Amino acid sequence: MVTTHILGYPRIGERRELKRALEAFWLGTADEAHLERVGAEIRAANWAKQTRAGLGVITTGDFAFYDQMLNQVVLLGCLPARFGFDPRGVTLREYFALARGSTDQPAMEMTKWFDTNYHYLVPELSEETRFGGGTQRYFDEIRDAVALGYAVKPVLIGPLTFLRLSKTVQPGFDRLRLLDALAEIYAGILARLKTMGVACVQLDEPALCLDLEPAWLDGYARAYKTLAARAPKLLLATYFGGTADYADRIARLPVHGIHIDAVRAPSQLQPWRNLLPQDWVLSAGVVDGRNVWRTDLRRVLSTLQPLHDLLGERLWIAPSCSLLHVPVSLAAERRLDPDIRAQLAFADQKIEEIRVLGRALDEGARTVQDDIEASDAAQRARRNFAANEKVRGSVAQLKPATFERASPFAQRVERQRARLGLPLLPTTTIGSFPQTTEVRQTRAAYRRGDIRHEEYMDAMRAEIRHAIERQEGIGLDVLVHGEAERNDMVQFFAERMAGFAISEYGWVQSYGSRCVKPPIVYGDVFRPEPMTVDIARYAQSFTAKPVKGMLTGPVTILQWSFVRDDRPREETAFEIALALRAEVEDLQKAGIKIIQLDEPALREGLPLKQRDWAGYLDWAVRAFRLAASVAADDTQIHTHMCYSEFNDILPVIAAMDADVVSIESSRSRMELLGAFRTFQFPSDIGPGVYDIHSPRVPAVREITGLIERACAVIPAERLWVNPDCGLKTRGWPETEAALRNMVKAAQVVRGRLGSKYAR
Ligand code: GLN
Ligand code: ZN
Repeated sequence: MVTTHILGYPRIGERRELKRALEAFWLGTADEAHLERVGAEIRAANWAKQTRAGLGVITTGDFAFYDQMLNQVVLLGCLPARFGFDPRGVTLREYFALARGSTDQPAMEMTKWFDTNYHYLVPELSEETRFGGGTQRYFDEIRDAVALGYAVKPVLIGPLTFLRLSKTVQPGFDRLRLLDALAEIYAGILARLKTMGVACVQLDEPALCLDLEPAWLDGYARAYKTLAARAPKLLLATYFGGTADYADRIARLPVHGIHIDAVRAPSQLQPWRNLLPQDWVLSAGVVDGRNVWRTDLRRVLSTLQPLHDLLGERLWIAPSCSLLHVPVSLAAERRLDPDIRAQLAFADQKIEEIRVLGRALDEGARTVQDDIEASDAAQRARRNFAANEKVRGSVAQLKPATFERASPFAQRVERQRARLGLPLLPTTTIGSFPQTTEVRQTRAAYRRGDIRHEEYMDAMRAEIRHAIERQEGIGLDVLVHGEAERNDMVQFFAERMAGFAISEYGWVQSYGSRCVKPPIVYGDVFRPEPMTVDIARYAQSFTAKPVKGMLTGPVTILQWSFVRDDRPREETAFEIALALRAEVEDLQKAGIKIIQLDEPALREGLPLKQRDWAGYLDWAVRAFRLAASVAADDTQIHTHMCYSEFNDILPVIAAMDADVVSIESSRSRMELLGAFRTFQFPSDIGPGVYDIHSPRVPAVREITGLIERACAVIPAERLWVNPDCGLKTRGWPETEAALRNMVKAAQVVRGRLGSKYAR
């Protein structure tokens, strides 16, 4: 029989039970026993689901109270020493202190998991790192599953991927030097699993889909030789990309099989067919673990059938990657348009698809004829679903000139300066102001239907007016309306554009207890009517200072949505860009002088392999320009980026041709500035001068120091002064205090620079 399995399952629970339990525990309204119970229930439910779907092995060890990398840190016993915790008995409180910070230690750094919107905690390694003596929790969870009689396949993040995703706290220390010690610990863990009756372990090595230097490839050979010695059977799991570059080296590793992502990189099926060692299984990831569309069962079967003929029982089938990246179940969705819903598959439906595919191979397609016909019908329905001739026509007819501003930056900047009359080192913020409990409660009341739209909007307008008054009081130069009326920077626009659907419970874990609900692009995208113009005009009416019109950029809207997989991503990006372009035009007509298009997700969309970067960046930059370039010379276009390092793509950011770019940089103590020494950035730039992730109020002197450091590499007349990102997660008291200090710091530096820069 074909073995069916999954690589991992969402752990937040069908109704975000884990989120609620975590937050109650952190607040102190529920105890540890309650949290443990919710965790155990979610695990048990997930195992039961896999059993009900008849999967061949039950995946365990994929649960985490916060994050799988943090679990691995705790299991390996390599906690950051700065916390001073004993690795042998990490309590839940200590575990959360690592994830969220303690009174005297900032949290471990968080960063995006490959090209997903999931954030993991970055292990901190150094020359002094010692592995071993970690906690029992991982083994306990597996023992529970074994005790229930399940044929389990525990998951571990493989040693090379673990190291690759770690950071070293000593500059210059090569973390590969820790590999041998790490491999020994893995060997011990695997041997212990074997004594527990585990027959097969899944070692996740998505790092094999990255560009790897020879030393890392050699590392695989060395480490796997050590860890395989006393191990159960090992399934090497790769995903998010192709492994063909290294397939012949991988095939020499002492493991018993490989899982490959046949959705992202289907072309690797062929090389693996030829290279697969005699005693290996090939796990084909044929159901998309990163998107929400139903699988085309007929097409997938036609790929699998010849593989099955060749490999027989050595063929395994699975989703392409862990189902962590899709919502749990469609069952709860009551309001989705039935025609759209019929095209979708969330995690539970994907498990079912895997079951059907397995049965088709084992017993013949005939036995699942109904399922295949339903899948055919869904595919037929999707073709040209919600297509719009006009939209497609406008995308097809785009001319190169449509991507260009009327004049180059050097000319635009003069006209903008004349129109805006800003001081040197203008101060501004990134867009959102504190989303207070009141704002959130009002929104919840509106969503429940307790208050009507007008009442809701009145409350939001009051909040916006209030935000303008506060900014006037603080003395900022360029104001924002504060985004009180936006639930989320992507969903807000998705709700206002045709072609997007919003699910009710389609939550996906972003980090810890935080979940996002990516909108679903099911049809051609366009803007039926203006989305932000009324609010922008309203905010501007209270002040003589410029208020920025605030939009989310096309790449970020695309990146944080589930997008159609039957059309090129760039086509959808261009459609979104055209909708935003119309909005930019309308804002401009309404007298808005500055318009910001946020693109925080531009960097995370980068493909895993560097050779694919240029192709992506080319259309991503063009999509941004398409949205922005309708701005007249004297309309100032801003963009904002955060969440990642941008040092290596500064030329790309420059190619977006915005007039002002604000970039997160204070968290890394302005490391970003190094890149400005070698690359002459053409337009204005606002490196963030304070971290908005903590309530700490930076002192004036601290900010003047950062501004002056920035002045050393960026001409002062190019420099803006702003925080790292939006302030919606902050409270008003610290926000006002911090912004006052920021404004003061800008004044101090202006004074020091003297009149030579008078504008
Ligand atoms: N304008 C948005 C805000 O201030 C930008 C958010 C972001 O960059 N993630 O909230
Ligand atoms: Zn940001």
